[in-house]
Amino acid sequence: IEARRAFVERNPESRAGFESACQAMPGGNTRTVLFHEPFPLRIARGEGCRIWDADGHEYIDFLGEFTAGLFGHSHPDITAAVKAAIDNGISLSGHNTLEARFAGAVCARFPSLELVRFTNSGTEANLLAIATAKVATGRSKVLVFDGAYHGSLLSFAGGGLPINVPHAWVVGTYNDVAGTEALFDAHGPELAAVLVEPMLGAGGCVPGEPAFLEMLRARTCSSGALLIFDEVMTSRLAPGGRQGELGIRPDLTTLGKYIAGGMSFGAFGGRRELMSLYDPRQRGALPHAGTFNNNVLTMSAGLAALRVLTPEVTRALNLRGDALRLRLDALCKAARANMLFTGIGSMLTVHFTDRPVRSGADVAAGDAALKELFFFEMLAHGIYFARRGMMALSLPIGDLECDRLASAVESFLTRHRALL
Ligand code: PLP
Repeated sequence: IEARRAFVERNPESRAGFESACQAMPGGNTRTVLFHEPFPLRIARGEGCRIWDADGHEYIDFLGEFTAGLFGHSHPDITAAVKAAIDNGISLSGHNTLEARFAGAVCARFPSLELVRFTNSGTEANLLAIATAKVATGRSKVLVFDGAYHGSLLSFAGGGLPINVPHAWVVGTYNDVAGTEALFDAHGPELAAVLVEPMLGAGGCVPGEPAFLEMLRARTCSSGALLIFDEVMTSRLAPGGRQGELGIRPDLTTLGKYIAGGMSFGAFGGRRELMSLYDPRQRGALPHAGTFNNNVLTMSAGLAALRVLTPEVTRALNLRGDALRLRLDALCKAARANMLFTGIGSMLTVHFTDRPVRSGADVAAGDAALKELFFFEMLAHGIYFARRGMMALSLPIGDLECDRLASAVESFLTRHRALL
């Protein structure tokens, strides 16, 4: 209560902005994930890995737009690419000269994508991947996992929301090999696809265990279902995505977030014969339109983004993230606090629990009040991340920023020893 009160007192402009937003948007909101009580901050501007709110407070941006902001704010190469596109006209009414180059760069980066199609968001990419699997297999059921987030209309925290797209979902427990094998036994011949994040991202940065993901590959092969890896977030974790790191080749992959340098983006791709269902030269080809699928701002920014993100840059960012997570986790252990950090590489999430976190239910069992306290206290230290505890590193984050976060966590652990 005290932390919330201090937040309200520090942020009168954000509060006024919220109240005015409520006049035209339900709850002053057009992205549910950003809402938290008593009101979310208004962010006025960003530069590098810093952001400033409407009241002029400066924060280190440890959220990185839920992984889409990998390059930091206004990276010069991406800014230049967007400006160049704007100068050449932005709604060209046809194919443009950038889209095939960008598609080639995406396919080169992720070898399981023999062909790719662009969308405007990760949500759309997943909707289309599921549709592809249903048509290709002639089956209707889709196996997903509790705690997974595959986009607006495809959210499985708490078992799935009533607003989800009405597919015949089968909902398993993440990382539960035996339980999921039983679901294959029961539903195998009716499964069109298994849709899975190789690490639960928004759902708590819970790594998919190799044995679990390998089992999904083996059982989809034997049952004739397609394996769809949702790498909208996790593709940033290694040069060829988490699939490359694990040596697992899915049938279809969905992408989004950072790949177009922070511009709106989504893509689905995979095996040639599956993606060829969309080849308009074929009779009965599946339709997939979308006014902005090939928009030049995204295509141009994406080409620049993938040039910046060499394998060396990708590895260095993830090494920094691993070191940070281990350091924060060691601080929690040394303080004997019921607090820990999960994740891989540049993505991490804090949990307030003394139990291992391996599934959506483990994430949900964490102490919500302590998580809220941590969030408000970190804001007071000038550290910004998701209210749900998620952080994603961007390229401009360096030693100084990681040290600032570690010392803020240390002071939290000391101050609240009795509660933790
Ligand atoms: N899939 C995953 C794993 C995500 O984390 C997200 C967004 O957070 C999506 C899909 C949806 O992407 P978008 O927000 O671009 O629709």
